[in-house]
Amino acid sequence: MICIFPKKVLNEIKAVCAEGKEEHCGMLLGEKNPDGFIVDDFLPLPNAITTMASFTISPEVMIDAMAQAGERKIIGIYHNHPCDAHPSWIDLKGMLTLPALIWLIIGIDGMGVFKINTQKDSSHPP
Ligand SMILES: [Zn+2]
Repeated sequence: MICIFPKKVLNEIKAVCAEGKEEHCGMLLGEKNPDGFIVDDFLPLPNAITTMASFTISPEVMIDAMAQAGERKIIGIYHNHPCDAHPSWIDLKGMLTLPALIWLIIGIDGMGVFKINTQKDSSHPP
């Protein structure tokens, strides 16, 4: 899977995530094609829980974000961690709930893009 992020968008997301102490979150907008994802913009969203170590996007905010995205496609979610950039078990649950989306995690040690693989491996029959 290929993920392309313009440096400007990535730097802007990192700047937003560096503000304050709470976890920031939002949507990644762009295109999805058979080879991967091309992010071209992002949409910061309010974190429904203001903690340093978790985030929740309320259903109302999600509906509002879809309206704000308009013709643009929501292809991913971003958030930051006060620790490393690896998905927490809560993140993994979210990825299973929204398997079509990529997840950008900004951590103190760097960043990572993750996507859950929901395809069965046919090379190892049961
Ligand atoms: Zn997380």
